[in-house]
Amino acid sequence: MAKIFIGVAWPYANGPIHVGHVAGCYLPPDIFARYHRMIGNEVLMVSGSDEHGTPITVTAEQECVEPAVIAKRYHEINAKALNDLGISFDLFFETSDPNHKIVVHDIFLKLLEKEYIYKKTMELLFCTQCNRFLPDRYVEGQCPHCDHEAARGDQCDECGKPLDTIELIGPKCKLCGSYPELRETEHFFFKLSAFQERLIEYTADKEHWRHNTKNFIRNWLTGGLRDRAITRDIRWGVDIPLDGFEDKRIYVWFEAVIGYLSTSKEWSRRSGDPDKWKEFWQDTKVKHYYFLGKDNIPFHTIIWPAILLGYGGLNLPYDVPANEYLRFEGEQFSKSRGVTIDVPDLLKHYDPDQLRYYLAINMPENRDADFSWDDFENRINTELVGTLGNFIHRALTFTAKNFGEIPTLDETKLTAEDHEALQMIDKTFKDVSVNIEKCQFKNAIKNIMALAHFGNRYFDKKAPWSLLKTDRDACANALHLNLRLVKALAVLTYPFMPNAALRLWNMIGYPDPIENAAWSAGVEGLTQGAKLAHPVPLFKKIVVNGQDKIKEKKIEGVIDMMKFTDFQKVNLRIGKVTKVEDHPDADKLYVLQVDFGNEQRQLVAGLKGYYEKEEILNKNIVVVMNLEPAKLRGIDSNGMLLAADDGKGGVALLIPDPDRNIAIGSRVK
Ligand SMILES: [Zn+2]
Ligand SMILES: [Zn+2]
Repeated sequence: MAKIFIGVAWPYANGPIHVGHVAGCYLPPDIFARYHRMIGNEVLMVSGSDEHGTPITVTAEQECVEPAVIAKRYHEINAKALNDLGISFDLFFETSDPNHKIVVHDIFLKLLEKEYIYKKTMELLFCTQCNRFLPDRYVEGQCPHCDHEAARGDQCDECGKPLDTIELIGPKCKLCGSYPELRETEHFFFKLSAFQERLIEYTADKEHWRHNTKNFIRNWLTGGLRDRAITRDIRWGVDIPLDGFEDKRIYVWFEAVIGYLSTSKEWSRRSGDPDKWKEFWQDTKVKHYYFLGKDNIPFHTIIWPAILLGYGGLNLPYDVPANEYLRFEGEQFSKSRGVTIDVPDLLKHYDPDQLRYYLAINMPENRDADFSWDDFENRINTELVGTLGNFIHRALTFTAKNFGEIPTLDETKLTAEDHEALQMIDKTFKDVSVNIEKCQFKNAIKNIMALAHFGNRYFDKKAPWSLLKTDRDACANALHLNLRLVKALAVLTYPFMPNAALRLWNMIGYPDPIENAAWSAGVEGLTQGAKLAHPVPLFKKIVVNGQDKIKEKKIEGVIDMMKFTDFQKVNLRIGKVTKVEDHPDADKLYVLQVDFGNEQRQLVAGLKGYYEKEEILNKNIVVVMNLEPAKLRGIDSNGMLLAADDGKGGVALLIPDPDRNIAIGSRVK
């Protein structure tokens, strides 16, 4: 028996998690953890809410509440959603907890003492309009590495490189849209450059890391590591444990990763054995796995290992299986653009196991994957219900009806087909184990589905309905082996669909929770003569409701009439349409050029079919300015125009009253 530590990337507590997050980094570690517990390993799996990020202060400012209110709200929503999904954390913690702060202070002071942290005066962006320094998410500009137009102040989503706000080309204040200036301020720096050699050494033997991760590391390390500021001018976050820095806080990228350690310590404390965390963090035989989306690679392969190396005496990440993105019909999920499928909403309509199945078989492991409602409906109905559920239900109902118990097996009368069935079970267990241990979860679930296909074919070939009339013993043998396949499927599916696996386990005569069974139980024999409960279909077919599919419309730029309260959060301005062209790759979209006086923007809008080009050209329109820039079918869209449902299936553009002569660029309140 081995010990395994699993760290799971921390969701920002500024919105509900969406299916992209689940496929990216929550479902994979849960499959991994459940499997390892079943083969007898001791697992510690931790994560929590990242409650200090600037996304949270931005949301708090929009809602005129304290950041703690936002953090608490989404921590509770997300902790519940993850629990409802069956993600089996040993502890899901919060970075605003005082016990997290103690661990961060300890690391900060130790690194300061070892001179891996030092003080330096630097120039940062200061917005004279807003009278404040602008931390990462308050700034946007062009990426200096890949020229992406809308890189954030902390990271470029396009090339994945972490950024400092001052590196952005043409930075703009996200609060007021004006161009900030540079001002001097004193901050603490982490001496990342001191770890260059040790990180090269550390990553050298990580041949098992995924290609995307290895490439990223290689690029970054050959480019040379630079020291980075770890504090900033903000009042929400972990404070600095020294006098004279009351207006500054520790940067979230430095502090949140420490959550892996603070949560392990907190878990120990709560379990009544305060030193238990040491067994996972100080014993070098314990492997540490970190599950995350690709945007988090630098923090887990460079920054966190460097902090750990600087502190000393703690285990470094062994594997960092970073997933690519799950997209929504080709578009990136984005809360601000309304392109989102939130988990709490989904769980109101769908069984968590159905969702887990779809996200596992469609997991963005080595390349981006796509979520679509049609595909979701189709795969659940044809694969989960039509193949897996169907085989299990046929085998169970036929046996229950004609034998009422698990039939006795006469091993002297096994046919070649029967031997093949037993071999298939053994082989599937080996393949699934290998794939899960290598974090290839999509392959693992495909192995399992192949066994379900085999089961359907085997049941048909044996034709127990005719054997029943001609040779009852042969029929008993065939059904017994069908139930061996069913039992194997119960154990194999447990890491992926724990609730369904448990129901199945009970149906074949095991009253105890399936998680108490060993993985090896799946290849072992059945309890002959055990009574069979009345079989109930394991999964139900689904019909995706029309409301859900409507969300697609938002991507096309047609937004619903916004509620009055939402108006207060958005920055609306009047712009004049100077050009209207057809979108080259979409039937319903126009590409608009809009003049706001001090700037020009390009917008993609779903107005074709509702408006002729001439009806929009030279008109003043109302535009939502403070949205994340989007790519719509390959064309950049930087803002969203306001339109309303006209109640007749059409769309009405909101055009300001031309008689009032409102200047373009004016703010709409
Ligand atoms: Zn970039
Ligand atoms: Zn400003």
